[in-house]
Amino acid sequence: MVLDNLGSSLRGTLNDLRGKSRISEDDIDNVVKEIQRSLLQADVDTSLVMDLSDSIKTRALEEEPPSSTSARDWVLRVVYEEMVDLIGESTELPLEPQTIMLAGLYGSGKTTTAAKMAWWFSKKGLRPAVIQTDTDRPGAYDQSKQMAENAEVDFYGDPDENDPVTIAEEGLEATADADIRIVDTAGRDGLNQELIDQIERIDDAVNPDRNLLVIDAAMGQSAKEQAQEFEESIGIDGVAITKLDGTAKGGGALAAVNETDSSIAFLGTGETVQDIERFEPSGFISRLLG
Ligand code: GDP
Repeated sequence: MVLDNLGSSLRGTLNDLRGKSRISEDDIDNVVKEIQRSLLQADVDTSLVMDLSDSIKTRALEEEPPSSTSARDWVLRVVYEEMVDLIGESTELPLEPQTIMLAGLYGSGKTTTAAKMAWWFSKKGLRPAVIQTDTDRPGAYDQSKQMAENAEVDFYGDPDENDPVTIAEEGLEATADADIRIVDTAGRDGLNQELIDQIERIDDAVNPDRNLLVIDAAMGQSAKEQAQEFEESIGIDGVAITKLDGTAKGGGALAAVNETDSSIAFLGTGETVQDIERFEPSGFISRLLG
């Protein structure tokens, strides 16, 4: 079946349906309650959980399951399909020349993700370059340069230049030989107008093919507001969730996906450049429900 590693109580509730050919409203209520518990614990936005619950209930009870599908398998299938509908398939990323800009708050993992993505594209046979425009965080240039070296990809930054837009423009010229340009931007402790103005100016100068929002898996409900702000200012085409090697399940990022009407592109699973995975729904859904 498409879902592995379900949490023991959800698995138990589903197993209670074994042998039944039809499900009752009580049966599906029990399953939905378990799912709600897991998702709320994983920081998924309450209104998303409620909408999902309604669609699971409606479909499981009102639609006719395919013949010879057991009640258990039918419920599991509806749960999976509705969750994929909520979370979306992986963000489309054609393996062709493009410029990708990363946005997000300070510490979300942008600089790390920029190098990781560059590494990922290089393994696909492309020639990536990282362009570091963060002039605010003192260590950003060195960290980014070092990680680009670890990833064995091109790098452009200028520790003596204070204007991120100039760095971005010069970076595009300096990396003309690269296929994939990944533009890292400065973050802040919180969203403020200065950050938004700056990233809008970089966005205008760079004109990226895609803007990805980088979100720490531990970020809870505030992911939603942040996503709205970035969506309004530069437009967000996909989300990268970082630090999934920790205990946080990344459910907060779903609100960002929903707000930006986008999808998840990458998952970060550690501190080295190789610790990146392309998002695929089933593993992530299992994790949320686990
Ligand atoms: P930025 O301020 O958004 O550029 O964030 P950084 O890329 O500097 O990351 C902040 C911290 O999080 C650093 O210590 C990174 O090593 C760490 N980090 C980033 N991504 C991951 C991840 O996927 N897993 C873990 N464990 N740490 C991460």
